[in-house]
Amino acid sequence: MKYVSTRGGMDPASFKDILLGGLAPDGGLTACESYPGIDAATLASWRTLSYAQLAFQVLKRFAPDFGDEALRGLIDKTYTEATYGTPEITPLTWLKPGLGLLHLSNGPTLAFKDMAMQLLGNLFEHVLAETGQQLNILGATSGDTGSAAEYAMRGKKGVRVFMLSPNGRMSAFQRAQMYGLHDENIYNIAANGVFDDCQDMVKAVSNDLDFKRRYAIGTVNSINWARVVAQVVYYFKGYFAATDSDGESVSFCVPSGNFGNVLAGHIARMMGLPIRRLIVATNENDVLAEFFESGRYRVRSSSETFLTSSPSMDISKASNFERFVFDLIGRDPQRLSQLWKDVDGKGQFDLGAEGARQCREQYGFMAGRSSHALRLATIRRSHKDYGYLMDPHTADGVQVAEQLLQGPDAAVLGKVVCLETALPIKFSDTIVEAIGSAPPIPERFAGLMELAQRYTVMPIRVDLLKRYIAERAPALA
Ligand SMILES: *Cc1c(COP(=O)(O)O)cnc(C)c1O
Repeated sequence: MKYVSTRGGMDPASFKDILLGGLAPDGGLTACESYPGIDAATLASWRTLSYAQLAFQVLKRFAPDFGDEALRGLIDKTYTEATYGTPEITPLTWLKPGLGLLHLSNGPTLAFKDMAMQLLGNLFEHVLAETGQQLNILGATSGDTGSAAEYAMRGKKGVRVFMLSPNGRMSAFQRAQMYGLHDENIYNIAANGVFDDCQDMVKAVSNDLDFKRRYAIGTVNSINWARVVAQVVYYFKGYFAATDSDGESVSFCVPSGNFGNVLAGHIARMMGLPIRRLIVATNENDVLAEFFESGRYRVRSSSETFLTSSPSMDISKASNFERFVFDLIGRDPQRLSQLWKDVDGKGQFDLGAEGARQCREQYGFMAGRSSHALRLATIRRSHKDYGYLMDPHTADGVQVAEQLLQGPDAAVLGKVVCLETALPIKFSDTIVEAIGSAPPIPERFAGLMELAQRYTVMPIRVDLLKRYIAERAPALA
């Protein structure tokens, strides 16, 4: 199994080679040379596997260079009942017949990103120990996603995390979650600005290539290939949980932003998992819904990007989308490079109605969008009718799925499994708006709000951020 760049400018590399990196050197994304196929007999034999056993079967096909024994050890350490709260790791429940919910949000930060990030922490630690390297992860968060990285990397040898967050602009729960971490390798920096200021500081540091190299600065954003591939596992697990026999097929509905989660579904389908349809659910930021309906991919400017009540889906462009388009256009790196040149130059490309048809018929994609009003209504109605309180992102998915199930495509879809991407406690304000009361704090987190909080306040100044890092991370020659 070797990896190439979607834009054709990278020599074939191994999984370990690309594990710590971000973009490919030519500015493209890394992609496996071909998808490992799973035949019907193999698939049937996986039905009774535990989550960790299944993860091993899937991941060893993508990371043969890790060695079976090492990989199995890291996976067994990651996917435990202690970390995810249940022996199934990702249990499935039915809201009503034919409409399931796959619970991906029982990890330490109560969002699906833990599913992959927890494994990434263990993979990073292993590879860094082998090579004697260090890694300093620098990131910015508006509160939701940075914590997944911190909980994955806490206490990991060879890794430090420097995470910027906008001072005073996160919810009490988010602050408690991040600033309550006291591990020595976790540095919370509360910057006196908004999220964009934090992100600009990170970019400025990363663009200083000499500093970046000297201090081994890295990231763990959603284009990391290991994150994508770790997410493939729960599509298999969800399929088995939703079906009784091997001949069946199901559809998945995925609340989407950067296209990382649903890309994993696409990969599972390419491997041979019987997925009928992959439904891409967006919020008001509907770049992806527009593409799957029309074939036109039009990225948004920041003034056209809305701040919504499902904030983790507020994207102006979908950073993992290039990997799917690579498959869609027959893996032609020249053509792909041209399309992304058009995105950079003209802000868009258009594959037309034929492109949209191919997405649907060959790759099983469908799409729909939600809105603030629909999100609130779905939270309220699900709470009342199904007795289940869901977070705003999950509600976007459930809303889109129910919409499609009432339309002419119901027969094509069959059973639909919606992915739960976060728990409601993380988005308490919206829940109060929807049902008039706050969601309960899960028992496991009862003590969190009382923890002492540790963070450093910093003005928006790149020089101070660099100095802060330099004082804490050893410099290379
Ligand atoms: C990140 C995130 C999403 C979007 O997932 P993508 O992989 O970016 O498409 C949806 N919901 C929640 C809660 C998230 O944190």
